Amino acid sequence: MEKDYVGFVKEILKEHKTYFDTGKTKDLSFRMEQLKKLKRAIQAYESRLLDALYKDLRKPAFEAYATEVGYVLDSIGYTLKHFKSWAKVKRVATPIIHLGAQSYIYPEPYGTVLIIAPWNYPFQLLIEPLIGAIAAGNCAVLKPSEYTPHVAQVMESMIKECFDERYIRMVSGEKEMTAALIHGAFDYIFFTGSVPVGKIVMEAAAKNLVPVTLELGGKSPCIVDKEAHIAVAAKRIAWGKFLNAGQTCVAPDYLIVHREIKKIFIPKLIEAIKKFYGDDPAQSQDYCRIVSNKHMERLIGLMDREKIIYGGAYDLEDLYIAPTVMDNVTWDDPIMADEIFGPLLPVLEYEDLDQVIHRINGRPKPLALYVFSENKTVQKEIIRRVSFGGGCINDTLSHVASPYIPFGGVGPSGMGAYHGKSSFDTFSHKKSVMKRTTKFSIPLAFPPYKDKMKLL
Ligand code: NAD
Repeated sequence: MEKDYVGFVKEILKEHKTYFDTGKTKDLSFRMEQLKKLKRAIQAYESRLLDALYKDLRKPAFEAYATEVGYVLDSIGYTLKHFKSWAKVKRVATPIIHLGAQSYIYPEPYGTVLIIAPWNYPFQLLIEPLIGAIAAGNCAVLKPSEYTPHVAQVMESMIKECFDERYIRMVSGEKEMTAALIHGAFDYIFFTGSVPVGKIVMEAAAKNLVPVTLELGGKSPCIVDKEAHIAVAAKRIAWGKFLNAGQTCVAPDYLIVHREIKKIFIPKLIEAIKKFYGDDPAQSQDYCRIVSNKHMERLIGLMDREKIIYGGAYDLEDLYIAPTVMDNVTWDDPIMADEIFGPLLPVLEYEDLDQVIHRINGRPKPLALYVFSENKTVQKEIIRRVSFGGGCINDTLSHVASPYIPFGGVGPSGMGAYHGKSSFDTFSHKKSVMKRTTKFSIPLAFPPYKDKMKLL
């Protein structure tokens, strides 16, 4: 018999609504207990999670801990410390016209939120938003990626063991299940993934007027100015690009290097790659694999043999693609069309910063941007004139690892933001309430209006 996906989602939502309506999740001590429970569960599942991340993406344990498991544990710690102050009802000023009134902002949970995650950081990108959802007092349904089945399986056991399924549950599944989920009458959808699927999710959500946060992707430029600290830039770029074999949404997608320093920068970049992964990265314990055959084929198709100056090797069976650098790339090359999302690094050259800014501004607004320069005017000029989600001066990726700054895209790279307090805010509706005294009234607003116009 065919499975009734729509009916299944309706049933989940009904159960969650009943649970939410008990008011339990609004209790701050309940939220605190759930966050602590999640923390203990992650700690108990740590080795299983690291093992699954290795199986799905060959993530080295250090990387898996730093960017996924440990990252999320730190985030729970930070949230536990601060969320009570974020949840406080805030009294704010009231205009004099409302004399005798007080104004308040109540952060309140939406209800049941749907969180959809991609495969590249399959644990972090599902659990990090969940932390915000719990802290804000919501119920949640979690949908992992089908490309990382080992991680999904471990997470499913962990979530089942940790939470009442009427409060938080995970739903894995086929296309039909995903379609039923995004068409469900959730109170909020938090989606991380590609631009095309982001559009599908937003369109489905619009039918039920469900608000969304979209954490999407795109091509993130990295500019290396002639006044860059070359050795530092080379190392930090090689790290940010080849971490997770380039399958990072905020990885530097392409480099734009000043003509005057390109000749000395490129050997330094290659030297850094060799230092990280050795002469044969296929043998390195610290280098990840591509998630699937389908993704391998797409990436191999982007390699222009004539432009490869380093790397270029691959092994279909092992899902391996070497860290690869392509030189003399132009803005019109096929590799410059879409987000690369793999270990291929095209290098473009520039002379005039103004032209670079125009080029970037002529493309969809990037999720991240990086600039390497010791020159403050260059740094300021780029930050002032280019719109992008977030980024770094003289580094790559590190802005993502701070709970003090919101993380998110702009325009086609996404809408909304999270991390730290921004996560709490994302999953909270701000309910505004004005409380008036009944001891007196100012009758100005009431009809008849005769002669009142001149009082305004
Ligand atoms: P994807 O869009 O293919 O899939 C993301 C999730 O959506 C998965 O769980 C998938 O099962 C689900 N999905 C796929 N088709 C769907 C549909 N028709 N309806 C509903 N859900 C559907 O993305 P991906 O390949 O898993 O991840 C790579 C992309 O994600 C890249 O573009 C990358 O830049 C982006 N990304 C963004 C961030 C960020 O924080 N902004 C982080 C990681 C990845």
